[in-house]
Amino acid sequence: MEPVDVAIVGGGHNGLVAAAYLARAGLSVTVFERLEHTGGAAVSERVFAGVDARLSRYSYLVSLLPDRIRHDLDLAVPLVRRRYSSYTPVGSTGLLIDTADEEATAASFARIGAAGDVRAFRHWQEDMAAVAAAVWPTLTEPLLSQDALRDRVGERLWHDVFARPIGETLRERFDSDVLRGVLATDALIGTFASLDDPTLVQNACLLYHVVGGGTGDWDVPVHGMGAVTDALAEAARSAGARIVTGADVLAIDPDGTVETADRAVRAGRVLVNAAPAELSRLLGESSGQAPEGAQIKVNMLLRRLPRLRDRTVTPEEAFAGTFHVHETLSELESAHAAAVAGRLPDPVPVELYCHTLSDRSILGPELAASDAQTLTAFALQVPHRLGVDRATAQAAVLASLDSVIAEPIEALLLPGEHGEPCIETRTTADLEAELRLPGGNIFHAPLAFPHRSASGAEGEWGVRTAHERILLCGAGSTRGGGVSGLGGFAAAQEVLTSR
Ligand SMILES: Cc1cc2nc3c(=O)[nH]c(=O)nc-3n(C[C@H](O)[C@H](O)[C@H](O)COP(=O)(O)OP(=O)(O)OC[C@H]3O[C@@H](n4cnc5c(N)ncnc54)[C@H](O)[C@@H]3O)c2cc1C
Repeated sequence: MEPVDVAIVGGGHNGLVAAAYLARAGLSVTVFERLEHTGGAAVSERVFAGVDARLSRYSYLVSLLPDRIRHDLDLAVPLVRRRYSSYTPVGSTGLLIDTADEEATAASFARIGAAGDVRAFRHWQEDMAAVAAAVWPTLTEPLLSQDALRDRVGERLWHDVFARPIGETLRERFDSDVLRGVLATDALIGTFASLDDPTLVQNACLLYHVVGGGTGDWDVPVHGMGAVTDALAEAARSAGARIVTGADVLAIDPDGTVETADRAVRAGRVLVNAAPAELSRLLGESSGQAPEGAQIKVNMLLRRLPRLRDRTVTPEEAFAGTFHVHETLSELESAHAAAVAGRLPDPVPVELYCHTLSDRSILGPELAASDAQTLTAFALQVPHRLGVDRATAQAAVLASLDSVIAEPIEALLLPGEHGEPCIETRTTADLEAELRLPGGNIFHAPLAFPHRSASGAEGEWGVRTAHERILLCGAGSTRGGGVSGLGGFAAAQEVLTSR
């Protein structure tokens, strides 16, 4: 059996980060990826046959990838900062949050009857900036204890973000249901929960959405998410890592043996980029409660952006940031209650992003010269347990969007090579089948606060498993969710510091 220092199971972006660090440190590294290409959920693909558009098919925006990883691995990954953070239609008007114009934002608050929340919103932004400043630098260090993290964050913000349900904090701080909802969505991306859930899983989700880069900004990767992965794969390969695609790992032994259908290696350490539930399966162990995703993803290519009911903003402004649909706090809670009762929420809460307003390089020359735009919808509060089929899911997302814009979105879809409309929908079941995300959970497992557990050991990186040779190196590690590289970075540090 071939010996290697490190075998990595999964060539998602995190597996590639780990491979690059470890190969650069002189270790022999083999990455096994079951698909024919690397990247996992961080890829760009020609989604519509015969159409020259490479969409970020799954993940889309970058916030959590630290400069440290970009510098260490010499990654050239340009990002575009977006001026408008969000737009929320409200009747025939709407709330446009413009990061470059406080006065315009205040006027927009007034238009939706939320003038009284302007001050509270500024305080919220200052507070989230303080949380980011406290938490962000710790993410590339060994895990702090809970007490040490609380000391850094301070009692007041700890209470509001880490210690009580975020729904309670938002209701106390804001009067507007719209604004509460706009802020609450950060707590529900890929996370099925009530905003009042006592487990605080929604608070952990919010935290990772507000700390990225120390600012909480979500940037558009130029050339799409695949460019991030390609740069990481190149960093790993050029450092000497061997990347084997089309290599489904079928079993892992705690002694370090990793088997595919046609080969086996014996590794000093096995780093698992696959989800923790997948690791349990490969070890032949039971995984306990199955994780669950709760979103529908719809990718579209449009002739042009849709017209809005609100004449105070242009579609280019409204779709430049996050476009919220039926995401007031009350609507998010009603949607959760419906889903808990076994029903598909109606209306389903949806948010949309338009990549091509920030970066047209993902379109071929002809499309780029036209008014064409990509549009990506991400629906919340649709848990895997509902078993919603693709057609029903797509119809629900489009109906929700149509209810707030001035013309049906389907009429704007460009045709593909055989005349079929350029739209694709991915349910949690699709993500499980295509990417092996258990229950379609985009973060592999429920998110956790970035500190040690009560039984955690000082100096650990949040990647250990019950087996000494086996570490997690993906989104399922303590700080791994999102396109951050943090899972791979942490696992590499754990290997290098314990040599
Ligand atoms: C629809 C969607 C939208 C998202 N949007 C964003 C976003 O905008 N921004 C953001 O930061 N995050 C987003 N995320 C989350 C983010 O994409 C993931 O958290 C991130 O990709 C996790 O990276 P990873 O490398 O840990 O795992 P993955 O990307 O899941 O990669 C794991 C890899 O392991 C492989 N694998 C699994 N089992 C085996 C096996 N037995 N043998 C060999 N290979 C195996 C898989 O094929 C896969 O390539 C989104 C996710 C989804 C699905």
